[in-house]
Amino acid sequence: MYGSINITNNSDMTQSDVRQMNILAAKAVADVTRTSLGPKGMDKMISDGKGGVIITNDGATILKEMAVAHPTAKMIVELSKAQDVEAGDGTTSVVVICGSLLTVCKSLLDKNIHCQQISESFAEAALKSEEILKEMSIPIDLNDKNMLIQNAITSLNSKIVSQNSSLLAPIAVDVILKITNINKDVNVDLNNIRIVKKLGGTIEDSEIVDGLIFTSNKISKKAHGIRNLSQAKIGLIQFCLSLPKTDIDNTVIVKDYNSMDRLLREERMIIAKMIKKIASTGCNLLLIQKSILRDAVNDLALDFLAKSKIMVIKDIDREDIEFISKTCNCSPVASLDYFTADKLGYAESVVTENVGYGEIVKITGVQSNNTISVLLRASNSLMLDEAERSLHDALSVLPGGAAPEMELSQKLYQWANTLTGSKQICVKAFSDALELIPYTLAENAGLPPLNIVTELRNKHAEGHKHYGINIRTGTITNMIDENVIQPLLVTSTAIKLATETVMMILKIDDTVICR
Ligand code: ADP
Ligand code: MG
Repeated sequence: MYGSINITNNSDMTQSDVRQMNILAAKAVADVTRTSLGPKGMDKMISDGKGGVIITNDGATILKEMAVAHPTAKMIVELSKAQDVEAGDGTTSVVVICGSLLTVCKSLLDKNIHCQQISESFAEAALKSEEILKEMSIPIDLNDKNMLIQNAITSLNSKIVSQNSSLLAPIAVDVILKITNINKDVNVDLNNIRIVKKLGGTIEDSEIVDGLIFTSNKISKKAHGIRNLSQAKIGLIQFCLSLPKTDIDNTVIVKDYNSMDRLLREERMIIAKMIKKIASTGCNLLLIQKSILRDAVNDLALDFLAKSKIMVIKDIDREDIEFISKTCNCSPVASLDYFTADKLGYAESVVTENVGYGEIVKITGVQSNNTISVLLRASNSLMLDEAERSLHDALSVLPGGAAPEMELSQKLYQWANTLTGSKQICVKAFSDALELIPYTLAENAGLPPLNIVTELRNKHAEGHKHYGINIRTGTITNMIDENVIQPLLVTSTAIKLATETVMMILKIDDTVICR
């Protein structure tokens, strides 16, 4: 009934053995992701045991799909997830940094430096790093659209959609700017963006629609012929346009044709009355929420709606209601009794267009100005995530191409020289560990890592703090000029989280297994 507790190897494994084992396990996981860092990083093919295959380059995804068993290895997976949540990018970098920090930890432990001492020094180094990063960052002007686009491109570059980054980034930036008040808002509310995916076509055909988009499975073909409207008065209903149901189960037995006729007549009457009431408000576009219990609208009702010249879009998902009501300025109505003219929204034009394999309806000319729809062709929703990430916070940017890591490494080394004793050794080790990022970036791009790192180190020593690895030309250049920039938040979060994880792993001196 109760789990029995086994203390593993408590006799033959010392605390330092446990620590070394934990470090090894975590490092093993970190090493797997290392080769996918950077725009030229490799992809991983992950096979999930059920025959499914995923190809990805994203650190968080790789780790999420990897079935790791060792508890400390799992911590690395969590680390990558946390980075994704906090900063939205840098999920590979954070793991590489953590792995590298663990490597130096191992040698510090071998030098008989106490884990507590290592922990404390690393924590201080991480704090100092934040300062250094802030110093080298460049505040970005949200009115400077070019800079924002570059930011989004750097982020998209290493994703599967990279071929399209130059196309997607401007769309993403436009979308975010549209819904954000740059003088007021510090964060972007992604709920104000609705992405409609439509297979077919290419990413180039994607477009931003200032209003609403519905795809063909929502458009009612039965409401004959009305495909376009101007000056639409939009009703959004959450009730069903069919016969009301009684609260208790019942059976009606119809014995003869007369009563059947009467029944059908009754039904027509009730529905006709409902539609009449709707039409009397002046509504000419009716959006009907999907009902989980029954068809929200039946053929008869659709017929009547068509006769009243009301266009119908049905099967609206519950989650979209809020967005629609915000966009068109209409209130969702839950009962026919409350369906009045003041609940209606307004749009200048409603147009049905043929695209790809079906049709879409575009509702434009709406009064709202803080929501937006994106029609995404060839289906990919990665880009908006990326866009939001690059615009996260009021935004400062850093040069990419491992410039921040190299700068950090050097500044920390200089700082270490002002310290004494084992703390100095620990901070120097921390500084060393950060060089793994430029090393890996070069290695993955097929450049000689040692030469590149040395050259980069020299440049930074000369004070060129924005110099990084130019993957395209294989040289060390000013990353700002190259427009390789990334949000400050990504790097600072990576350093912070990686250090925290290392400290956590160091603190563990035994594993207890419960069965
Ligand atoms: P992560 O999951 O950590 O974001 P990526 O595979 O996206 O990993 O790689 C990010 C690293 O690649 C960062 O250090 C970034 O500066 C660098 N990088 C991205 N684009 C370029 C580029 N065009 N030139 C040089 N470095 C780049
Ligand atoms: Mg990235």
